[in-house]
Amino acid sequence: MSALLPAAAGAQGQAASGGNGAMKTSGTVRVSLATGRVEGRVCIADRPAEVAGAFALNAGLNVARVTDGDGKAVAFDGWYDPGINGEARVYTVSAAPAVLCVEYVGAYPVYPAHDAPDDFKGVMAFNGDSARFAEQSAWLPLPFDNKAKARAGTMAYALDVSCEGCRFLYMNGSAAIIGDHGRFSSATARPPLLFGGKGPITKTANVTILNETVAPAQADALSAAVGQVASYYRDYMGAPVADQPTFLRMVAANQVKRDREGSEWAFATWPTIAMSGSVGRVGATLQAGGQARDGRIAYIAHEMGHYYFGTLARSPGPYFWFMLESTAEFLSIKALRALGGEAAAQRHIAGLAAEVNGHTQPFVALDKITDGASIGGTYRYHYGPLLLLSLERQVGEAKMRAFLRGLLSARNVRTWADLQGVAARAGIDDAAWERWRSTCVADGRRVCQSQDSLGKTGR
Ligand SMILES: [Zn+2]
Repeated sequence: MSALLPAAAGAQGQAASGGNGAMKTSGTVRVSLATGRVEGRVCIADRPAEVAGAFALNAGLNVARVTDGDGKAVAFDGWYDPGINGEARVYTVSAAPAVLCVEYVGAYPVYPAHDAPDDFKGVMAFNGDSARFAEQSAWLPLPFDNKAKARAGTMAYALDVSCEGCRFLYMNGSAAIIGDHGRFSSATARPPLLFGGKGPITKTANVTILNETVAPAQADALSAAVGQVASYYRDYMGAPVADQPTFLRMVAANQVKRDREGSEWAFATWPTIAMSGSVGRVGATLQAGGQARDGRIAYIAHEMGHYYFGTLARSPGPYFWFMLESTAEFLSIKALRALGGEAAAQRHIAGLAAEVNGHTQPFVALDKITDGASIGGTYRYHYGPLLLLSLERQVGEAKMRAFLRGLLSARNVRTWADLQGVAARAGIDDAAWERWRSTCVADGRRVCQSQDSLGKTGR
C-alpha cells in the first residue's frame, strides 16, 4: 500500500496471526472463468480464540454447510439478518470447533467487455479471461473477531485449486503454476490472493511478471531495481528479503471506464504487486531515469518493506498501522536515498510534509495512541514516516538502524512504553528518547519535521 499508487482501502482492521502457530487453511477451490462460478470446501485450523466464533465470507457466496474437522455438522447463524463486514457476510458458530470447515458456492457476473460498473480489491472479479480474488474479497472464509470487527488477515495454506479456462494459476506467496489445476502450499502466513488467467509468465533473476508480455529490457530494468532495493535492505535490516515480488498485470473488470478516465489502479498484497496499468511501462520508466524513476523506486521499495513489516513481523494492537506502514515508508526513503540520491529523497520527504501540512485534523500524539483508528491514512503514510526521520536525526543512523531491526524482532508492541523498550535495546537512552518525544512527538505537533524537511528543499 502506498501513497504514490494508492491502494483500495483495506479491510478496516486485521487480526493478528504471526508466523508461529499461524492459522492454516486447507481444502479445495474450483473456479470457472466462463461462468463465474466458485465452489469451496475449506477447513481452517489453529484459529486464535478471539476469531474462533465467527467467520467472514464474500456476500456473493452461499454457505452450503459448516462442519467440524470430522464431518459433524456445526450450527451457525447468518442465514437471516446477517452480520456485514464490508463486502463480506459474517456468520457465527455457537459451538466453535477446533477445526472449522465451510462448504460454499456462488456465481459472479463475468465482464468480458471490461464494462463493469465498479471494481476494487474486495470484488471477486471475472473479466472473461481471468479470475482475481484478493484477500479483501473474503473468497476464503476468514475467521472474524466479532468484538473488534476485524478479520484474520493472513494464514498459512494448503489448497487444491482448479480453474476451468485458465492457462496458469497463482496464489500469493507461491510460484505460479502452468495449467488449470494445481496444489499450493505455504507454511508462512500470507494474505490469501488467488489469480487465474490466460496470459504469459516472465521470470527474471529477481521478479516474476504475470499476465503481460513484457520486453526483455523492461523486465530486466524491473528486476535490476528490485535487486538493488533487496541488496540495500539486506544490509540495512541484517536479514535478506527472502520473497521475490510478483508483478501481476490485472485488467480491471471496469477497465473501459478506467481507460476513458486515464486512471490507473494498483494494490500490493505482498509479495504480489498488482496493477491495472502496464508492468512493462514501469520497467520502461525505470530505464528512462529521472524523477519518474525515483517515484517508481520509492513505490517498489515501500512494498518490499512489507517483507519485513507485514510478513516477518505483524504487530497487533493500537500501533498496528504505524508498525506496518510508517516503517515500510521509512525504509523506502532510506532505499530511495541510497539508489536515487539525496535530492530524490528530499523531494520525496517534501511530498510527505506537504500532505501532513495539508491535513487539517489534529493528529493524536504518537505517545498517546490507544486506538488503532487514530492512525489514519495521512498519519500512517506521511506523518509517521516523518516522525521516524526526526528520530533518526536526533539519534543518528546507526542507532536508528538498530531501532528498526529491534522493531522487526519485537513481539507485541502495543504501547508507547513498548516502543521505548525497543529504543532502549537499540542504544537510544531515556534522555534521547525523551528529547525526541518532547520536541517532535508531544501534542501531535508537525513543526519538528516539516520545518526541517521544507528547510532542506529551500521552500
Ligand atoms: Zn504499505
